[in-house]
Amino acid sequence: MLDIRYIRENAEVVQTVAKHKGIQVSIAELLQWDVKRRELLQEAEGLRKQRNELSQLIPRLAKEGKKDEIERTKEDVRGINTVLTEKETELGEVEAKWGELMQLVPNIISPDTPIGASDEENVEIRRVGELPQFDFAIQDHVTLGETYDLFDLPRGAKVAGTRQYYLKGIGLYLHRAVQQLAIDVLTKRGFTVMDVPVMVREDMMTNTGFFPLGREQTYELGRDNAWLVGTSEVPLVSYYSGETVDVSEPIRMAGVSNCFRREAGAAGRDTRGLYRVHQFAKVEQVVICKNDPAVSEAILQEITRNAEDLLQLLEVPYRVVAVCTGDIGQGVYKKYDIETWMPSRENFGETQSASNLLEFQARRSNIRYRDENGQLQYCHTLNNTAVATPRILIPLLENHQRADGSIHIPKALRKYLNGLEEIKPGV
Ligand code: AMP
Repeated sequence: MLDIRYIRENAEVVQTVAKHKGIQVSIAELLQWDVKRRELLQEAEGLRKQRNELSQLIPRLAKEGKKDEIERTKEDVRGINTVLTEKETELGEVEAKWGELMQLVPNIISPDTPIGASDEENVEIRRVGELPQFDFAIQDHVTLGETYDLFDLPRGAKVAGTRQYYLKGIGLYLHRAVQQLAIDVLTKRGFTVMDVPVMVREDMMTNTGFFPLGREQTYELGRDNAWLVGTSEVPLVSYYSGETVDVSEPIRMAGVSNCFRREAGAAGRDTRGLYRVHQFAKVEQVVICKNDPAVSEAILQEITRNAEDLLQLLEVPYRVVAVCTGDIGQGVYKKYDIETWMPSRENFGETQSASNLLEFQARRSNIRYRDENGQLQYCHTLNNTAVATPRILIPLLENHQRADGSIHIPKALRKYLNGLEEIKPGV
């Protein structure tokens, strides 16, 4: 959420960002409600003041024995109360409308965010690692998975529907190994690792900016007013909701969780294999820091590097792209996607996504700290995937396949796999 004072003073800028982000919200309409809201707040305050003054008069009049005047004053107080109730009801309605529109207002974007309508206009910043050259006919991860019985997609669909799967044997070990590697790397780098609730209350979805616009993507546990999170960013940021925190050192947290996504609107996209599924696991980095753009920019670079280092440990080529306005999301100020080479797609595919939200989430979640002058300030929040699996198994299996059909296991993973160096027939 942006500060309403900022919106008042920069209405045109905010409207333009909404247009670039493809968000339907009229800032002019919001500001009309804002004027009405402020008028009503003032009127209500004036009426309360008037009523209090009159009420305070009554004991004095009583002392002076002015019975008629007391009756008249009481009558006036009743009249004011009636008008006040009407104004308060109207104010409640206006505030609801104002609040609804405020929830839709996007965060501003960094000066270096590319303007563009969709991910096709994201801008590549760097590439790391050599693309593999295969001198044999490669298999995609689905075939490799079938060959080595790493996962079972048909039975996933039979039991749970489309975009569902079972991970089996070495497939499961790999899925756990990449997560444990991420946990170990982040722990060494000062992150507190957490197992988090994946069922959260509705207001936590709203406060972190996933509602109202992301509602369609979220599974609702209707009977219990609970929602299944699509990322542990929600419980991690919400961990400090409503609190005043100490950010003299940035708070670094890593959530380890399953994630659930309806993938509404993705019908027909990425239907083969493990790329786009309804349930996956993620180790997620979340950092809460001071309200200082230089600090949060440095942390954006840091959490991007963490994800890149993990890909380097997995020995897979990747690129980093600056995400454009049409693909950046409502709450995000600046975003990098990290895309890993997926040979069967003959393309890079997104495997991690790093965002700086400035104070957008902290304002909605009311997470503050005291600055050097003792003033309360909203924090900045950031997040990035460390590793998301099973999607990461696609580049892992496909890039590391060899002519004899075996699959190389990167060194960094071996200690989590009983020293396994390759997957080959009979292993
Ligand atoms: P996000 O939280 O949307 O930035 O996604 C973070 C990462 O989670 C992505 O880069 C993917 O690696 C992974 N991911 C997101 N959605 C899915 C999905 N439906 N199926 C599998 N992996 C996903």
